[in-house]
Amino acid sequence: MAQSDVRVRFAPSPTGPLHMGGVRTALFNFLFARKHGGTFVLRIEDTDQTRYVEGAEQYIRDSLKWCGLEFDEGVKEGGAYGPYRQSERRDLYRQFAEKMVKEGTAYYAFDTSQELDAMRERLKEQKSDIQQYNAVTRGEMKNSLSLSEEEIQQRIESGKPYVIRFKMPEEQHIVVNDRIRGEVEVNTNQLDDKVLFKSDGLPTYHLANVVDDHEMKISHVIRGEEWLPSLPLHFLLYEALGWKEGMPEFAHLPLILKPDGKGKLSKRDGQRKGFPVFPMQWTDPETQETFPGYKESGYLPEAFINILAFLGWNPGTEQELYTIDELIESFDLDKVGKAGSKFDPEKAKWFNHQHLMQKSDSQLAELFIPVLQKKGINAGHEYVKEVCSLVKERVYLIHEIWDQSYFFFQPPEAYDAKMVKKKWKEQTPELMKELKDRLGTLENFEAAAIKQTVKDLTQQKEVGMGQVMLPFRITLVGTGMGPDVTKIAEMIGRDETLRRMEYAIEHLQRLAQR
Ligand code: GLU
Repeated sequence: MAQSDVRVRFAPSPTGPLHMGGVRTALFNFLFARKHGGTFVLRIEDTDQTRYVEGAEQYIRDSLKWCGLEFDEGVKEGGAYGPYRQSERRDLYRQFAEKMVKEGTAYYAFDTSQELDAMRERLKEQKSDIQQYNAVTRGEMKNSLSLSEEEIQQRIESGKPYVIRFKMPEEQHIVVNDRIRGEVEVNTNQLDDKVLFKSDGLPTYHLANVVDDHEMKISHVIRGEEWLPSLPLHFLLYEALGWKEGMPEFAHLPLILKPDGKGKLSKRDGQRKGFPVFPMQWTDPETQETFPGYKESGYLPEAFINILAFLGWNPGTEQELYTIDELIESFDLDKVGKAGSKFDPEKAKWFNHQHLMQKSDSQLAELFIPVLQKKGINAGHEYVKEVCSLVKERVYLIHEIWDQSYFFFQPPEAYDAKMVKKKWKEQTPELMKELKDRLGTLENFEAAAIKQTVKDLTQQKEVGMGQVMLPFRITLVGTGMGPDVTKIAEMIGRDETLRRMEYAIEHLQRLAQR
């Protein structure tokens, strides 16, 4: 239960998948709520029906769940301030829009799109700097400020479509404080008479957002920088609705930039540079185009969260690795910077590696077993656990465990030709045959005993360790990589070791001579 008045919301529009910037916004809200014993609300802002995308809301909820960001109130969770989907609150917005018209802070506008185009054309011809619906132009347009009472009534009764616009005050100097940006100043002459309520019976983002933040008793609005230009309008709406007193505090989070720092990170950057931009895989329902996700790319949710936390926030210490609980403990809105934050995909992998290393071998096995099962390999938990302990140092993403360990589960599918050419010499088949025979009768087929066998052989034949160890490794692994080869032999067992050796002795000579 919340112990404080802190109430924050994450308010996505279901117009597509949530990109990592959106998850970062959700995360910062979550951390702020948990840190202050507050309430974290999920509100779905679906008033723009033209941009509605099938499946997007579900995707958003699934992604946040994968990240471990749980809501206290929301569409599924319920709560005292619902409904939490804006399309289910339309009467409320109409009520407030009408109230504003009555009080003179908003007005009906009947202009058709042709009339609006004509206005812009006229202003362009007149070389006017600002071509918008505002105090200068509204008198010439068809609205409840310019038309007579009768004309207005007649239009409304005849069912002519109309919108409700905000009556932007003239020549006012507005100063709004933002927790991250400081003071944001604007002269109202720069702003237009924004549409608050549309002819389809739904509010625009601005009205719905302000009404809901007020009605849901939101104390802090933490959102992306792209909403900063809307801040003065929102301030004026709070004022017009008589809610200036209890207005929430605002904090606009800095942009996430492309790896080269040139511009905002976009969904296409991931495809171009080969890193995910979305939390989970997303398939566009219209084009069927699929975008990769962090989840499917082998990231741990706790690493993903850690990566996101550092996009804009900096604790000002040396510590970089944080669990979610540590993030809650350390998070401070005042340590969020103004400057855009460059996304570094290599650093992201490093974070994942670090979080993987903090897992127990048993936990790693749990993560890796599904990867094996997809390949039709059923290996026991204990065996997989041991494999994980042997290769984890070299792994950045979960599926890379396979690249580092396939030879524990199956013979090599191919042999590294370069390596074979270099290391498979004239006398190698003889040495391998001899080694194979000795291993065949070895009493304890264990790493130490296998190593001793190799040693004895090299001494008797007066060859270097490498002349036996490396070809031996090639026979089992196919390349020069992997953990201690005697350990590999022990793990796969005597039969499998001998089988792989025999196959290699038969086939590698040809490869070596090519
Ligand atoms: N619906 C807006 C969005 O999609 C919410 C912006 C806000 O948080 O005020 O980002």
